[in-house]
Amino acid sequence: MSQPSLVSPLKGGKVGVRETQEGSSTRPINVDGIDQELVEKMVYDALVWSSIHGLVVGDRSVQRSSTVPGVGMVHAPFALLPMPFPESQLKQAYELAPIFNELVDRVSLDAKFLQDSLSRTKKADPFTSRLLDIHSKMLEINKKEEIRLGLHRSDYMLDEQTKLLLQIEMNTISSSFAGLSGLVGKLHRSLLSHYGEFLGLDFKRIPDNAPVSQFSAALSRAWTEYNNPRAVVLFVVQTEERNMYDQHWLSVTLKEKYPFISTIRKTLAEIDAEGKLLPDGTLVVDGQVIGIVYFRAGYAPTDYPSESEWRARLLMEKSSAIKCPSISYHLAGTKKIQQELAKPNVLERFLDDKEDIAKLRKCFAGLWSLDDLDIVRKAIEKPELFVMKPQREGGGNNIYGNDVRETLVKLQKEGSEANAAYILMQRLFPSASPTFLMREGICYKDDAVSELGVYGAYLRNNEKVVLNDQCGYLMRTKVASSNEGGVAAGFAVLDSLYLT
Ligand code: ADP
Ligand code: MG
Ligand code: MG
Repeated sequence: MSQPSLVSPLKGGKVGVRETQEGSSTRPINVDGIDQELVEKMVYDALVWSSIHGLVVGDRSVQRSSTVPGVGMVHAPFALLPMPFPESQLKQAYELAPIFNELVDRVSLDAKFLQDSLSRTKKADPFTSRLLDIHSKMLEINKKEEIRLGLHRSDYMLDEQTKLLLQIEMNTISSSFAGLSGLVGKLHRSLLSHYGEFLGLDFKRIPDNAPVSQFSAALSRAWTEYNNPRAVVLFVVQTEERNMYDQHWLSVTLKEKYPFISTIRKTLAEIDAEGKLLPDGTLVVDGQVIGIVYFRAGYAPTDYPSESEWRARLLMEKSSAIKCPSISYHLAGTKKIQQELAKPNVLERFLDDKEDIAKLRKCFAGLWSLDDLDIVRKAIEKPELFVMKPQREGGGNNIYGNDVRETLVKLQKEGSEANAAYILMQRLFPSASPTFLMREGICYKDDAVSELGVYGAYLRNNEKVVLNDQCGYLMRTKVASSNEGGVAAGFAVLDSLYLT
């Protein structure tokens, strides 16, 4: 492309390509070499495809778009073309999924490990403290979760220097985009089956990906284990949710494939108002027996604006419904626990298979507590090599660059216990390549890096492991100069894989 084009979208039937940064291509998909006219055609086709196939989110410029389905939709941000990715490393990430699933389950059963590991964080972070309080209450009443369902997503980056697939984090609550992720692969297949010849790309190199089918299958298996034909699946949601279509993809797929299962959507406040426990522990919300509580809210402090929401969380935890996740699964997915698991000899406490342990360890990046004064000193010296993370989910919470230094120096001066709210992580640097990124009908060209997520489903009923599988992938691509990577948070676009 010669000149940066700033044509506004769809002006005169054409789509503007906005070039934000020049970069050299090192990938099989040579973005720089694609003819502008071809790009515009693909952009147009992709916008049509995403609109008619439900690759959509609520449009922030329409007020009711986060509460009323069908009102104010815009295509989800996506990459115009799939991102090249080594097949061997996708296979590696897939192999890790059942091992991580098992690990989360084992860790969740070790109440002492969870409480001990998080004991200092509890003093520094009120949100973690509230979660731990619920966990403690469950210990007091000797609550057992016999049926355990995990719908996780483990995220990775390919570190450019070492070429290693390294884990960013494990999500055990509200793992998002199982609904929309598979659609992006379909969109890219559709584009490549049409334009692949001009691009020298084969649509068959985009792997099959249907996390929404696998997550709905897992939910249906869990529902069967709960064994009450009247029970419904409760989606716990935020009051406003622009990413509602991702969630609706899951509930609609569930209902279509398993017509005998119904779903309802409720906010935590509604559950507090309409929910009760029967003497036998059955959870009833709005007059309906709940078999599975599936959380798409409750992972952030803002989800609990009052005591009402905490009451709802406690009520559900006390019930016999299957929680996805239980409070123990939720805690097992915190960043502090990730860091504790990376310490020497800790995995051995939970897993027996030496090979499994070696596989997990191979994908661990450097992780440290702020008690490690050597590392804190190094991070103050070279903050660009670290990411500082609080116990938060949902993107936009981490600390980078100079802010790492400032925050660490401040914490040192205060000399308080506040440092237990954070962990330090080795910063990963995936290789950047020029990419077309689509947002609100406009195509931007910029250097971008990707993060691979692999979904996993785990279902256990007492001693019987009913399900332990990988469930496909999520690829997210973001402008290389941006630190954070959330799609919903506005930093990244959805992508698919082009296997190399
Ligand atoms: P969250 O639970 O909020 O998603 P993450 O640990 O996934 O928290 O961090 C959010 C984003 O920050 C990631 O999607 C990634 O883009 C970036 N990030 C996190 N850890 C690292 C790291 N070690 N190196 C580089 N980028 C990182
Ligand atoms: Mg997370
Ligand atoms: Mg994340």
